[in-house]
Amino acid sequence: MILICSYCRKIMGEKQPIEDTRQTHGMCSDCHSRVMRQLEGISFADLLDDFDKPVAIINEEGRIAAANNKALQMLGKPLEEVQGFLGGEAMECAYARLPEGCGNTIHCSACTVRNLVEDTQRTKKSSTKTRVFLKTDEGELEILLSTSYVDEMVRIVFEEITLVSPSGNA
Ligand SMILES: [Zn+2]
Repeated sequence: MILICSYCRKIMGEKQPIEDTRQTHGMCSDCHSRVMRQLEGISFADLLDDFDKPVAIINEEGRIAAANNKALQMLGKPLEEVQGFLGGEAMECAYARLPEGCGNTIHCSACTVRNLVEDTQRTKKSSTKTRVFLKTDEGELEILLSTSYVDEMVRIVFEEITLVSPSGNA
């Protein structure tokens, strides 16, 4: 797979399996230091505490600023592969791997996750258990998301996740 920096879109090299020519995302060391500087001194503890469900904080650019341990378990990734990444990249949206990238493909304007987060950002209103869909390599996921506007960012709580149509490799 072709490894591309999620931020500056610099090609960082290749990654197994080599014969798979799709893109995957990482973060180059320059961008990593920049993100870490931006996030320094921001305490997310208050925003993430007291949830027994996966929670993430999305910034204005649509990037994940913070995620609690339950969210990392759900994604099966360490924090450094989640923090700073675009939502679709962190959640392994199948479309985020297209060359245009998360947010810029022809599928993105219809993305229910993106629209919900943008709505919350714009209206500053919370939503409870809104049904959204996400296409991943495993199939289509139906997710009940609750959102709220916190410190100019959007907090999302993954209330429930169901695999509605597994992608069968017939
Ligand atoms: Zn970079």
